[in-house]
Amino acid sequence: MTAMARTCVIVGAGVAGVEAAAALRSRDGDCRVRIVGAEPTPFYARIRLPEVLAGRTDPSRLVLRTPDWYRERRLDLDTGVRVEALDPAQARVRLSSGEWVAYDALLLATGATPFVPPIPGVDLEGVFTLRSLEDALRLRERAHASSRAVVIGGGLLGIEAAAALRPLGVVVVEAAPWLLPRQLDRGGAAVVQRALEARGLEFRLEAKVLGITGPGRVQAVSLASGEELPADLVLVAAGVRPETSLARDAGLDVGRGIRVDDRMATSTPGVYAAGDCAEHGGRVYGIWPAAEAQGRTAGAAMAGEDPRYQGTVPSNTLKVTDLPVFSAGDVDPAGAVESEVTTGEGRYRKLVRDREGRLVGAILIGDLRERRAVLDAVTAGAPFAAAPGSASGKEGP
Ligand SMILES: Cc1cc2nc3c(=O)[nH]c(=O)nc-3n(C[C@H](O)[C@H](O)[C@H](O)COP(=O)(O)OP(=O)(O)OC[C@H]3O[C@@H](n4cnc5c(N)ncnc54)[C@H](O)[C@@H]3O)c2cc1C
Repeated sequence: MTAMARTCVIVGAGVAGVEAAAALRSRDGDCRVRIVGAEPTPFYARIRLPEVLAGRTDPSRLVLRTPDWYRERRLDLDTGVRVEALDPAQARVRLSSGEWVAYDALLLATGATPFVPPIPGVDLEGVFTLRSLEDALRLRERAHASSRAVVIGGGLLGIEAAAALRPLGVVVVEAAPWLLPRQLDRGGAAVVQRALEARGLEFRLEAKVLGITGPGRVQAVSLASGEELPADLVLVAAGVRPETSLARDAGLDVGRGIRVDDRMATSTPGVYAAGDCAEHGGRVYGIWPAAEAQGRTAGAAMAGEDPRYQGTVPSNTLKVTDLPVFSAGDVDPAGAVESEVTTGEGRYRKLVRDREGRLVGAILIGDLRERRAVLDAVTAGAPFAAAPGSASGKEGP
């Protein structure tokens, strides 16, 4: 008599979910793997959405796996289907179709949703967020009928979207004293800001939005300074919140994200979480490489292995054409550390070392040739010496 094959259910068909499915299948040829994704489009390069917004890339080119890829691995993919409830006591989930699906192992890879601050007028017509392909297409359509945009939030997503919205007049409003506050220090951000201003973008820093005004559809954004920024399109890019509702409603341990151990196991047996929805070691990463690594770990654990996820060094590359910006690790730490900064026209390079001389963070602007070596050194906690003839020439103070 043969044992019945196990069923593994994965909620969310983003990078964490799909990487988990592949890792699981490569270790377990027998189990049934069912991926349930709420979006109508199968797994795609979410991080390239600004290209779609700019009209530079056809949406179909973002899709990362062919139907054959799923077929060859016997991964059953439901697109446009939402998991609406999790019943851990009976080890089953309810789909938006009403069907209950029993699982032996379940992965929550539900990602994150845009955070929308409670600003008066935020629900007016013409106010958008950007997370999905559908969002990007809606925003693009609106941009065609607009001439002035305001982007609330000068982080990575806000800047990339603002650059993509050109040739509209675009003003970016940021509460912090400099742009990309999570990726750059003040000096690096000033170089980026000058480059973007040269392309026609405008900025209001240390600025607080009081409200978005209509009537009916958006007409302006009012700032605490008294300034009124005229706008017929507003993009709110104020960060994301982990999508934890299924886990929370089912009584799993949830902090900022769904809490997991090094195997990506949640507080409930048989249930795992990975990617933007997960909190590991007190951290919610919100970046692609972490979701990828966590997904792989979860897949291995669901196959019965005992993997150990040990965290991901945060790193980001700004995806604005002809403006190379990269940062990794801790770029602006407090305490006794040593920073080496070299700067020149449109260029900025900062290496941050701890007291033992190990590289803990870096910023590269204008020339990214050292990106790989820098990321490897930060990841390994190793010293870093620039290769002869590399971009490290001291061009200024
Ligand atoms: C415009 C943009 C630019 C970005 N740029 C970068 C970058 O340059 N570098 C970087 O590292 N990161 C970037 N990110 C972040 C990166 O995209 C995320 O970290 C990554 O996509 C997380 O992967 P994930 O699989 O955890 O979640 P997601 O990619 O969000 O996928 C989760 C999926 O689960 C689905 N889902 C949620 N709830 C349910 C449910 N109940 N039932 C079924 N399905 C459900 C969602 O619809 C979604 O499709 C960017 C994000 C955006 C939006």
